[in-house]
Amino acid sequence: MRTIVKEIRRYRRFVVTTHMEPDGDAVGSALAAALALRALGKEVMVCLADPIPPMYDFLPGSSDARGEIPPAFDPECLLILDCSDLDRAGEIVSRVNVHQTTVINVDHHGSNTRFGHFNWVEACGATGELVYLLIQALEIPVTREMGICLYTAILTDTGGFRYRSTTQRTLEIAGEIVGLGVNPGEIAEHAWERYPLERFQILGKALQNLRVSCGGRVADFYVNHAMLNGNGFSPSIVEGFVNYPREINGVLVSIFFRERGEDQFRVSLRSKGAADVASVAQAFGGGGHLNAAGCLVEGPFEVVRERILRKVCEGLRRADA
Ligand code: 5GP
Ligand code: MN
Repeated sequence: MRTIVKEIRRYRRFVVTTHMEPDGDAVGSALAAALALRALGKEVMVCLADPIPPMYDFLPGSSDARGEIPPAFDPECLLILDCSDLDRAGEIVSRVNVHQTTVINVDHHGSNTRFGHFNWVEACGATGELVYLLIQALEIPVTREMGICLYTAILTDTGGFRYRSTTQRTLEIAGEIVGLGVNPGEIAEHAWERYPLERFQILGKALQNLRVSCGGRVADFYVNHAMLNGNGFSPSIVEGFVNYPREINGVLVSIFFRERGEDQFRVSLRSKGAADVASVAQAFGGGGHLNAAGCLVEGPFEVVRERILRKVCEGLRRADA
């Protein structure tokens, strides 16, 4: 981290970005980092491949994010947060000349490919934790605005401090942020209690196709095009659906399929305890953490489902043996 602090001090013009289809950790980390860099007097653009989901519109700075790097802006440094490989950053990176621009990669995915010129990869609850530590290392005060972004990042990526990635440090950082005047109840309401009614109508339909397999240890369900885009909804309306079946007694792995294009499915996986879904996602070209991972798989739905279920079930049986 010390090298990264030194590098950050050297440059003036920054682009901050994160992965496609950004979640709370991605958005919160990027916005907090941008605030911190500006506090250091840097010129900063937050450029994201996909728009910020409406549930995160309360985050300070969310309305300043752009969909691309303005042609006149020539960044000296690209700070990429919460992004395990360069493909996941999408279009933003392809616009940057990596021979002239220093790439700094800060991430909490163990599977991170270390694509940056400088990399700080540490498996932990959320990239937001690392950004908090980075801001402290830069010796600038963490403001309440930064705190709102970082608390949201940590809250959402730990599933509300429920996943096993939650550590004493996670809670200490969250506690310090609360000490800055950030209200946990308020953030939770903003992030999780402002969903459009349609989310629950879609959830109702999706739960009707919930199936349990592998001796009651795996639960899966899907949302198809007709249920989602047929009605003109953005994919963020189903964010977090994958967490519901995980709450079923005996279920160790829950899987959510979202039809993304013709014969193309976004697969989200969540697990409990030692059940490893990162290796499943990796086998299909995706990635993630032990208990939360994802991938994109092509093919007709029942074929995709069968392939994923077989891999998940194989993993559980191997763990039994
Ligand atoms: P989600 O199910 O919320 O989309 O993703 C869960 C976790 O898996 C996140 O930490 C995310 O970064 C990771 N992940 C999801 N999809 C992909 C993917 O296609 N590639 C990689 N490398 N990681 C993914
Ligand atoms: Mn994350």
